[in-house]
Amino acid sequence: MIVDAHLHLDETIDGTAQGAAKELDTQLTNAGISRAIVLHLESQPWSAEEVAKAIAPYKSLKGFINVHPFNKDAKDKLKAGIDELGYIGLKLHPRLQEFKIDHEKTLELVRFAGELNIPVLFDAFPDGTHIMQGFSPVKYAELAKLSPETRIIWAHMGGHYVLDFMMLAKRLPNVYMDCSYSLLYYRKSSIIKDMVYAMRSMKFDRIFYGSDYPDRSIMETKNSSITIFKELGLNEDELTKIMSTNAINFFKWTDL
Ligand SMILES: [Zn+2]
Repeated sequence: MIVDAHLHLDETIDGTAQGAAKELDTQLTNAGISRAIVLHLESQPWSAEEVAKAIAPYKSLKGFINVHPFNKDAKDKLKAGIDELGYIGLKLHPRLQEFKIDHEKTLELVRFAGELNIPVLFDAFPDGTHIMQGFSPVKYAELAKLSPETRIIWAHMGGHYVLDFMMLAKRLPNVYMDCSYSLLYYRKSSIIKDMVYAMRSMKFDRIFYGSDYPDRSIMETKNSSITIFKELGLNEDELTKIMSTNAINFFKWTDL
């Protein structure tokens, strides 16, 4: 029972959200993955409504809606996304959406997500652009500390800042992480050892597997990630937590 807790729809299948969702469901089935979190992106050519409609027929697919925190209707959009479109979380991307993580509007929307009892996933991958925009683990932590009622997922484990993110997550019980993209991006570097060190240090709790498809393929990412985890000494129980049960328990899925 594998959960891929971080991916997106592929724009290149046939250009439609329906086509992308169908292809994604097929690829998940082929890879033996039971469920995936589809992160809607405002930068993609489909509206939140279109993405919701496309993924709705598939038991394997659950969605997070992407809303800009500075949008004057941000709260209404988020609430409608949850209540009417079936989304189960909020996706925020400070680099792509070009907003400041320490802005009061960001805090307002993150706190509102807590009131709605839905998690917020933040992109936390420090590429050169993001670093030049002022990427700072402390800003992520401050936001999480100011929103203790909101469960926050730091995607990509903070990339090469993984040890900072780990030390901060230990002080913030409302924080979770996913290892998508980073694990394979840093595959030939020392960072993956730090990532597994961080997982171990957190007792393999609060961390989810993700592929970040379509940037990475579903099957190959799953196989490579499991290989890396085994090479770095994870036992079966530890592997199961990362690949499956941490996410299932987090989302309280009883139908898997
Ligand atoms: Zn992503």
